Amino acid sequence: MGWRGWLRYTRPMLLCTVRGCRQPLERDGNRLFCAAGHSFDVARSGYINLLQPQDRRSKNPGDSAAAVAARRRLHERGVTAPLLAGIAEFVSLSPGDTVLDAGCGDGFYLGGLAAASGCEAHGTDISIPAVEAAARRYPRCEWVVANADRFVPYSDGTFSVIVSITARMNAPEFRRTLRDDGRLLIALPSPDDLIELRGSGRDRTLRTIDEFANLFRLERQTRVETRADLDAASVDDVLHSIYRPLQPRAPEAARVTFSLDLLLFRPK
Ligand SMILES: [Zn+2]
Repeated sequence: MGWRGWLRYTRPMLLCTVRGCRQPLERDGNRLFCAAGHSFDVARSGYINLLQPQDRRSKNPGDSAAAVAARRRLHERGVTAPLLAGIAEFVSLSPGDTVLDAGCGDGFYLGGLAAASGCEAHGTDISIPAVEAAARRYPRCEWVVANADRFVPYSDGTFSVIVSITARMNAPEFRRTLRDDGRLLIALPSPDDLIELRGSGRDRTLRTIDEFANLFRLERQTRVETRADLDAASVDDVLHSIYRPLQPRAPEAARVTFSLDLLLFRPK
């Protein structure tokens, strides 16, 4: 293991996810273990699997392999590149930042942010197919399979920036693992997101600001939006890549709006 690996894993950063344990994990080859003797595997593709049996039975197991593949095809067509650029400009990372993407999916946003900024990047998601894809594509970042709804498996004050991009949110755990001078970026689908396919959506910003109000204050807010002319196959990929239920329909070529509301919070 190189010097950087040694440095990373001797810092009390990743924590044991066995219920009630939460001791720091140390790495030895392709295993991580805590002082209580609980151990976890590093997959061949490089990600760390911290899922517990109760997480595997979760009602929200995350993206399927088909959804991950559909989203990746949209990224590769450049459809989401303007959203990534808008997020990067809004959050303005630097090489000194230590960033967590909670609910990182296939790693497109964190991988892009890390490559552009040189930040230290950590991504977690409950979906094994999503994290597997992220680890293969962006080996410079650290990828962890974990259920962040229950516990974000890092020690207090680890991160200077946490991002949550159209993912499930855990305000108390985001606050615990964020530094006091850190920043939290929440990206939500705007009411115009996919409006051509599903009609106008809800504005989620006020409810989210309210949900975070005990622990965070809103510093800035903006919207990033792009439109893409998609063929029927890509429209089908959109329909397979999202969580929100849609009317079953035969996909046809369409101009589709992708739109995110971005909220930047500071700890109170
Ligand atoms: Zn343990």
